[in-house]
Amino acid sequence: MPVLVMKFGGTSVATLDRIRRAAKRVGVEVAKGNDVIVIVSAMSGKTNELVGWVNETSPMFDAREYDAVVSSGENVTAGLMALTLQEMDIPARSWQGWQVPVKTTSAHSSARIEEIPSDNIMRKFGEGMQVAVVAGFQGISPEGRITTLGRGGSDTTAVAFAAAFDAIRCDIYTDVDGVYTTDPRVCDKARKLDRIAFEEMLELASLGAKVLQTRSVELAMRYKVKLRVLSSFEEQSDDAGTLVCDEEDIMESNVVAGVAFSREEAKMTLVSVADRPGIAAAIFVPLSEAGVNVDMIVQNIAEEGRTDMTFSCPVEQVKRAEKALNDAQTKGSINFHELVADTAVAKISVVGIGMRSHTGVAAKMFQVLSSEGINIKVIATSEIKISVLIDRKYMELAVQALHDAFELEKTG
Ligand code: ADP
Ligand code: ASP
Ligand code: MG
Repeated sequence: MPVLVMKFGGTSVATLDRIRRAAKRVGVEVAKGNDVIVIVSAMSGKTNELVGWVNETSPMFDAREYDAVVSSGENVTAGLMALTLQEMDIPARSWQGWQVPVKTTSAHSSARIEEIPSDNIMRKFGEGMQVAVVAGFQGISPEGRITTLGRGGSDTTAVAFAAAFDAIRCDIYTDVDGVYTTDPRVCDKARKLDRIAFEEMLELASLGAKVLQTRSVELAMRYKVKLRVLSSFEEQSDDAGTLVCDEEDIMESNVVAGVAFSREEAKMTLVSVADRPGIAAAIFVPLSEAGVNVDMIVQNIAEEGRTDMTFSCPVEQVKRAEKALNDAQTKGSINFHELVADTAVAKISVVGIGMRSHTGVAAKMFQVLSSEGINIKVIATSEIKISVLIDRKYMELAVQALHDAFELEKTG
């Protein structure tokens, strides 16, 4: 029988009623003759609460225990979903990550899936089970400890299962009815896309559009998983939602496909460091060893042998970055006059594969921001995206102005 993967995010399993509604959707697919693997998130807000408890108990926590705690939200919804399906006379059982087992690396709190053996679940399908409900977000390390896949990780669980079971499709049910040109909560003119190319979705996700976890898009692209994003709150037809697919499968598209933003960014500047060979390594190696995710980097033109070095990272990592750089200063491996952290910035990005062949997108973006009186603090570009750092208070304005200027509410 064909296998279908259906993933329900936190808001889609937030109450018993919503679990029942999701289970009905699963029932529809079972009735069509599919064996279904359901991946569930924790009830919305649960993972945040668990993370909060860990931080309050132990600010410099042992990451293995962090994973033991924060993975637990998914255990509850997996069991409840299986029970709900059983109440509907659909043979179902729940599986925690370690039971499958979802084998991952031991990088606690951001582990990667290495292997999902399909035999256990396939055997149960053979014995008449129609739905395997799997707790998303979690796995087991080679040392036998529970791991988690990073925030939003149930998306990745879902795509990895679709790849491992050669599923006909991976449907991601969420609280919006597809992927939009930008977050519909920030821009009411945002338009739902029928299709989006893997490369564009990958950029949008990594630049802040949390509708899919970046790693899930990477896996779908690599293993050619048919990936669809749709709403768990509306009746669904077979072509509902947004299909994430190869760019060759998209007939029409705008030069800019979408606008992404990341609210919680910080800009850090090392004022006056020696401009000498090896200085970038002396700064960024300790940052990397401290686990700081550096994103944009700008080095100013040197004057009298000294220069300023600016980089961006998530706000929550500022303390860690400061410690790493101050320690390097104490050890004498770098020498700066001052370390300035601006923790009130946001990153805005425009993304589109059309940029490969169209010029002028950056110029237009800068003009739009300038006409709104928004100062650009840092710029970074790649083949299909342009990102800027701006003051966080202008984030919504910038997103809306760019959405208007690139006419994203219209189909290309
Ligand atoms: P789930 O709990 O189902 O995993 P998430 O909250 O992780 O849901 O992701 C869905 C949210 O992603 C939406 O509610 C929306 O606010 C946000 N989002 C950000 N960018 C986009 C976009 N381009 N298209 C659709 N949703 C987006
Ligand atoms: N519950 C986890 C989180 O909130 C994983 C997920 O929902 O995808 O990040
Ligand atoms: Mg999510």
